[in-house]
Amino acid sequence: PDGSHVRALVIGTGYGGSVAALRLARAGVDVHMIEMGQAWDTPGPDGKVFANTTKPDYRSFWLRGRTKQPLSQFLGFPLDKDVPCHTGILDAEDFAGITVYQGRGVGGGSLVNGGMAVTPLRDRFPEILPTVDPAEMYATYYPRANAGLGVTEVDQNWWEGADAYQYARVGRKHAQRSGFPFVFVPNVYDWDYMKQEAAGAVPKSALAGEVIYGNNHGKKSLQKTYLAQAAATGRVSVSALHRVTSVSPAATGGYTVAIDQIDTTGAVLATKTVRADRVFFAAGSVGTSKLLTRLKATGALPGLNEHIGKGWGDNGNVMCGRANHMWDPTGKLQSAMPTAGIDNWEAGGAFAEVAPLPTGIETYASFYLSITRTPRRAEFSWNPATGRVDLSWDRAWKQTSIDMAKSIFDKINAKEGTIYRSDLFGAYKIWGDHLTYHPLGGAVLDRATDNHGRLHGHPGLYAIDGSLIPGNTSVNPFVTITALAERNIERIIAEDF
Ligand code: FAD
Repeated sequence: PDGSHVRALVIGTGYGGSVAALRLARAGVDVHMIEMGQAWDTPGPDGKVFANTTKPDYRSFWLRGRTKQPLSQFLGFPLDKDVPCHTGILDAEDFAGITVYQGRGVGGGSLVNGGMAVTPLRDRFPEILPTVDPAEMYATYYPRANAGLGVTEVDQNWWEGADAYQYARVGRKHAQRSGFPFVFVPNVYDWDYMKQEAAGAVPKSALAGEVIYGNNHGKKSLQKTYLAQAAATGRVSVSALHRVTSVSPAATGGYTVAIDQIDTTGAVLATKTVRADRVFFAAGSVGTSKLLTRLKATGALPGLNEHIGKGWGDNGNVMCGRANHMWDPTGKLQSAMPTAGIDNWEAGGAFAEVAPLPTGIETYASFYLSITRTPRRAEFSWNPATGRVDLSWDRAWKQTSIDMAKSIFDKINAKEGTIYRSDLFGAYKIWGDHLTYHPLGGAVLDRATDNHGRLHGHPGLYAIDGSLIPGNTSVNPFVTITALAERNIERIIAEDF
């Protein structure tokens, strides 16, 4: 409530925020979490909490009147359509050179992501977080994160015969015929549930194509893991549809946090102020960076240092499709949860997720999301004229990522005698180079913060999300975000509380 005092306030309920809340609560600290998205605990008129991927509706997009689907076209037909402007689950946030997709709601990105839960190879770790001791990460914090998230491997015997993974087996065949290592990757999906979906025994979720607008069953989002455990402590409360707009030092000590309560059209219903002894920025790479950049520039947090807003990367994301021959159908039933990737990181700088294209019809298409070792980094800056935070990303920078992804797919196409699809991103475009699913950086560890996420210049303020990671994780990021949060919060609780 307005005017109240809390010991620890957490901005955002994604991976970093959920880890902070659980560990603080278990250490006896009362925590209040502020989340600008919805709670996602109430079914809509169709009896379901989340909309299907093939039928986006008012629940699907964050405050835009028209969908902006990552795949904008199919077979030459535009897919986007008008929807009511609503506090939906997926934010396609536009900056000048890039659209950044993010989850909105209690659970953050865990509500919309593909559940791929990948621990980077240990010898690549120094490149990802150079100031963090790999020994403690691989002995303690990665295992703790994987356990907390409920990460498991698909049963490979079942996978070999599952109709829903024919697309992935085609992906394996083509990778191996060109000499690329094909690797299984763990996931947070409940595989027993998926087996029952395939057997027709339970309502379908992954096998109904549910993913980017939420999964009604089967996926262990943070709502079912860290946040459920946090709630069970009795010490964690969550305010959904509340957006933090300012944090500044309070005269009486601690910080004054200004919060807008919004309705599902985005209109502000009330403005509240809360005093917090300590504040954890866990609004995601973009959310945390935008807040800190503005608060530094406008003088609310004058002590923040010159590294705020810097070191931002897109994890080198680039998408593409390949057109297979008629003898390589990828299946009209495709599980929305990916299980595998092609690893050409050492030789070509690319790790490609063999992704589903769950259209419900046979497309003979193979679809991939590549993560690449791009050196490009952008920065956020405050624009007083527009009252917005800009990002200095240049669309042309994606060419390095495209070149790295081509180290895999040009070779596969040459070997198979196949071509790229040009009907997925509009106007004969082969490469999905306009977006990222993996924003990282903006409050980089040991630069904007100390080596455990304490923001320089303002004791009691912390960054504890993807903003700490300087732009690239070599694989999908949420396990690393979670493991780093586990490492940092342990030290923060021991020394600061
Ligand atoms: P987030 O999870 O983004 O959480 C931040 C939260 O803060 C959000 O809920 C947001 O609404 C809230 N917030 C922001 N600003 C404010 C504010 N001012 N006030 C209050 N609340 C605020 N990663 C993988 O590892 N594997 C995958 O398979 C994968 N697939 C993906 C698929 C899609 C479509 C997308 C979009 C992402 C995917 N990712 C995947 C990326 C992964 O989800 C993110 O890296 C991860 O969620 C980031 O965690 P975080 O804790 O930094 O922040």
